[in-house]
Amino acid sequence: MIRQWVSRFMVGRYGMDQLNTAIMVVYLILYVVFLFTRLAVLDLIVLALLLVTLFRMLSRNLDRRRAENARFLQLVRPICRRFKSCRARMQDRDHRYFKCPNCGQQMRVPRGKGRITVHCRACGATFEEKS
Ligand SMILES: [Zn+2]
Repeated sequence: MIRQWVSRFMVGRYGMDQLNTAIMVVYLILYVVFLFTRLAVLDLIVLALLLVTLFRMLSRNLDRRRAENARFLQLVRPICRRFKSCRARMQDRDHRYFKCPNCGQQMRVPRGKGRITVHCRACGATFEEKS
C-alpha cells in the first residue's frame, strides 16, 4: 500500500543518482562530526544538504538534474581514476613504482632484481634504479 503510494508519488520525478548519493555520504559524515562537535554551523549545513537531496529527488526537471549529475561525474572522474590506480599500485607486490627523474613519467620495474639500468620510454633518459 505504502509502496504503491510512493511509486505513484515518484512518477515523473527524478529520484536518486550518483550526485545525490555523494551528497548523502557527505551528509552522514558531517552529521557524525556534528554529533561530536555540536557546531551550530554544521547543523545548518547538514540540513541544507538534506534539503538539496530531497529537492533533487523530487524534482520534475529531469534534464536539469541529469546535467548536474553529468557535471558532477565529470568532476570526480579524475579523482576516482587516481584513487583506483593508487590502489592497484598498492596491491601490486611484483613491481616497484617510481617517477622518471628527468620528465616525471610514471614507471615500474619488476621487484628484486637489484640495481638495474632503466630507460625512460617517454623522454629517452637512462638512469639507475634499485628494484
Ligand atoms: Zn623520462
